[in-house]
Amino acid sequence: KAAGGNTYELFRPEMEAREEAAMRIELDLHRAVPNRELELHYQPQLDLRSGRIVGVEALLRWRRADGNLLAPGIFLPVAEETGLIVPITEWVLKEACRQLSVWRAMGISVRMAVNMSGVLFRRSDIRGMVLDVIERSGINPSDLELELTESVLIRNTDSANRQLADLRKLGAAVAVDDFGTGYASLTYLSRLVIDRIKIDKSFIDRIEESESDQAIVRSMITLCRNLGIRVTAEGIERPEQAQWLARQRCDEGQGFYFGRPQPADKIAVMIHATMHGMPRDDLTAFVAS
Ligand code: C2E
Ligand code: MG
Ligand code: MG
Ligand code: MG
Repeated sequence: KAAGGNTYELFRPEMEAREEAAMRIELDLHRAVPNRELELHYQPQLDLRSGRIVGVEALLRWRRADGNLLAPGIFLPVAEETGLIVPITEWVLKEACRQLSVWRAMGISVRMAVNMSGVLFRRSDIRGMVLDVIERSGINPSDLELELTESVLIRNTDSANRQLADLRKLGAAVAVDDFGTGYASLTYLSRLVIDRIKIDKSFIDRIEESESDQAIVRSMITLCRNLGIRVTAEGIERPEQAQWLARQRCDEGQGFYFGRPQPADKIAVMIHATMHGMPRDDLTAFVAS
C-alpha cells in the first residue's frame, strides 16, 4: 500500500503541481496592486567615462503576504498571460515617475528606465498610458526611457515601429533590452527609431577572454556609434569587464559590480556620493565598501 502511495506521488503529473502554483500566483496577483504589494527596486546605470550614475532601471518586485520578495521571472509570465500586465505596468510607470519627482525635488537628476512587456504592444494603448503618467506626474518626458526586447520589434516591425515613433514624439527615449539575443538582423537598427541598445549580459560574461565576444561587442558599439544609437552594457560583475568596455568607448554600464537593484533610499545615497563625478577607481572603492 505504501509503495502504491509512493508510486502515485511519483507519477503524479508534474504539470498539475506547476499549474496549481501558477493559479495561486494568478489569484493573488489580481490583488497585488490594490493591496500595495508591488515594489520597485532601482539599479544604477553609470556613464563609463565619468563614473557618474546617469540613470536607474526600475525593476519590479512582489512582496508576498508571508514577507517573501518575488523576482519578476516568477510572476511576469502569469501577468502577461492574464492581461494583468496592463494595470501592473500602469502602476510601475506611475511609481517610477513619482520617485523621479521626489528625487528631482531632492536635487537628484537621473534618467528613469522602465521595462515594457511586448504584450502591451499588441494589447493596449501604450501611448495613452505613457502620456497620462507623464502629464499627471509632471516629470520631464526626456527623463523617461522605455526598455523593450528585440522580439517585440522582430515580430511586428511596422506596427511596433509606429508605436515607438509615437512614444518618442512624447519625448520619451526608447531602448532595446537584451540586445543580441533575439537573432534579429543588425540592419533593422537602421530602420528603427531607437535611442539605445542594451547589450545582453551573455556577451559581457566572458568579455575579458573571449575573442569572439570581443569582436561581436566591438562591432555592436561601432555600428551604433555610426547610427547615433547609445550603447549600455548589461550584467557587468567585475572591474575588468568595466575597464574593457570603457576602453572600447561603450557609453554606459549596468551590473552587480556597480550596484544591485535596491530600494529608492539606498540608491539615493549612492547617487549623491557619485553626483559630482568620481574617478572610476574611487567609485570602485565606494561600491566595494
Ligand atoms: P532586464 O530588464 O534585462 O533587467 C536586468 C535583470 O538582470 C534584472 O533582473 C537584474 O537584477 C539582473 N542583473 C543586473 N545586473 C546583473 C549582474 O551583474 N549579474 C546578474 N546575474 N544579473 C544582473 P530582475 O530584476 O530579476 O528582472 C528580470 C527581468 O524581468 C528584467 O530583465 C525585465 O525583462 C523583467 N522586468 C523587471 N521589471 C519589470 C517591469 O516592471 N515590467 C516588465 N514588463 N518587465 C520587468
Ligand atoms: Mg530592462
Ligand atoms: Mg536586459
Ligand atoms: Mg532580461
